[in-house]
Parts: sequence; C-alpha cells; structure tokens
Amino acid sequence: MLTLRTAAEAAQAASRLARPLALVPTMGALHAGHLALVAQARRDNAAVMATIFVNPLQFGPTEDFSRYPRAFAEDERQLEAAGVDLLFAPSVEEMYPAGFDTGIDPGAIATRFEGALRPGHFRGVATVCVKLFAIARADRVYFGAKDAQQVAVLRQVVRDLALPTEIAVAPTVRDLDGLALSSRNAYLRPPERAAAPGLYRALQAMSDAVERGETNRDRIVAFGRAQIAAPLREAYLDVVDPLTFEAVPDTTSRPEQKNFIAIGSAWLGTTRIIDNVPLTVPAVPANAVLHASVTE
Ligand code: AMP
Repeated sequence: MLTLRTAAEAAQAASRLARPLALVPTMGALHAGHLALVAQARRDNAAVMATIFVNPLQFGPTEDFSRYPRAFAEDERQLEAAGVDLLFAPSVEEMYPAGFDTGIDPGAIATRFEGALRPGHFRGVATVCVKLFAIARADRVYFGAKDAQQVAVLRQVVRDLALPTEIAVAPTVRDLDGLALSSRNAYLRPPERAAAPGLYRALQAMSDAVERGETNRDRIVAFGRAQIAAPLREAYLDVVDPLTFEAVPDTTSRPEQKNFIAIGSAWLGTTRIIDNVPLTVPAVPANAVLHASVTE
C-alpha cells in the first residue's frame, strides 16, 4: 500500500490503479464498520483507494474537531492488511490551502435532521467529498448506511452535478448489543455506553410497529420514544423517505412508495449518537387483512 500526502501525487497514483477503482473516504480512528466498507470495495473492484482526513469544514465551531480520535499508524496498518492499494492522508493545509474559497451547498436535504442540528455540516461533507472524488476519479465511492442522510446528500450532489462516480452503500456494522459502531463511541463513559443500544432498540420498536401494520408516523415514533430512557435523551426520531429525508406522515400516503427508514439520534451526556433501520411495509396492511376476514 502506498501512502501519499499530496493531492497531486495521489491523483497521479490513482490514475495508474486498475479499474474499476473504489474510493473509501474516512476520518480515521478505524473500526470494523470502516473495514467492512473496505472489504466490500475490495470484493467488487480491481483496486481500492482509501482516504483519512478529519475534515474541519464539517465540524461546527463548538464541535469535537480538535479532540476527534486520531490513530494514524494503527489505521494505516489495518488498511494495508485489508488490501487497500493507495491511502491518501492529506493535511488540512493540503486540502484547504490559503485562498481556498469554494463550497458545495447541497440545498434543502442538508437542512433537515443532522443538517438542522449541525448547520454547515453537509456543506463541509459535500465540499470535501467532491474534492476527494476529483482527486481519486474513482468508478465507485463507498459509504456506510449508518450515515443515511450523508448518503442521501451525496446522491443528490452526484446527481445534480453529474459527477462520474457511482455511490455504493454498505450495511451498518453493530456491536453485539446492537449499538452501531462509530469512532465517537470512544467518548461514551461506561454507564452511557451501557445505555447506548437503547437508540437501536427504539428504531427496532418502530420497525416492529410498521411490520404489525402501523402506518401513522406519530404512532410509529411513539413506539420508539417508549424505549428512550435516561441517560439517553432523544434528539430526533422520525420516519423518512431515504432519498429526500422528508418526514413521511403516513406510510400509506404515497401508495407507490414502499421504501422508508426510521431514523434516530440521542444524546448521552455531551455525545450524540445516530442510527437508522429500514422499514418493511407489509404488502397488505395487517388491519386490512383483519377487516377482510371479519366482513367475509
Ligand atoms: P467516518 O470516518 O465516521 O467519517 O466514516 C467513514 C465511512 O464509514 C462513512 O461512509 C460512514 O458511514 C462509514 N461508517 C461509519 N460507521 C459505520 C458502521 N458502523 N457501519 C458501516 N459503515 C460505517
């Protein structure tokens, strides 16, 4: 594995890699979720380029940029072992030299949920990703389903700007108790870590309600809310269209659409965790079946 620090060198090295080429952007402090992305990229492509860059543009002024976990030597070792061909790990000055002044603003999709709680976050994500896409010129870029709104924002950006990169999504990797792996889980103190799987349980309760035939967003969310207990504090729970991140008041309101996700976020002390699960809307709502059998 070649590790490069400048955009010019990385672009040149990437252009020489076999095709199809996959790009896996990360902020480092790697865990099994990142490595699953790399493994999927490795399986489906002839070459893999990974990036490690803690992107200051996507952190708010009071957020954790300076204390975000950094573990470069160990990350580099793990990426090499996972079969990555090229690692691009630039400095902030390399990505944003003096005079850098362009931003990619993804519009309405970036104002909801994570965007509302983190103003400017998705502008920072979109800006760094477009720059990384331009350097790598990869055929596919891999993102984790855990960050579902990030996926939706980048799909919008790729579509709107006709970027020649396909977005591939890998499933969320979880700890045994259901907590989605995240570099930020390292911030959780033991009692917070013990309570953290409550968010996944809330999302599962929402998913179970949908499978039982519940269609109303408020009632679905209430099932989730019932699972959120101190020290967990809800930031948001909702039912959304995974492409637009618009809330869906009732899963029957758009009969042609079957594809929804339950999204959630909760605070544990000063750390906020996020997660989501797909919702499976039954082909025939459970109450319709009941109604049919009663009237026959
Ligand atoms: P990050 O380093 O947190 O910016 O994440 C880099 C990539 O890894 C993003 O596409 C994330 O969605 C993905 N990722 C992070 N955590 C997980 C996880 N638990 N399962 C799958 N993918 C993940």
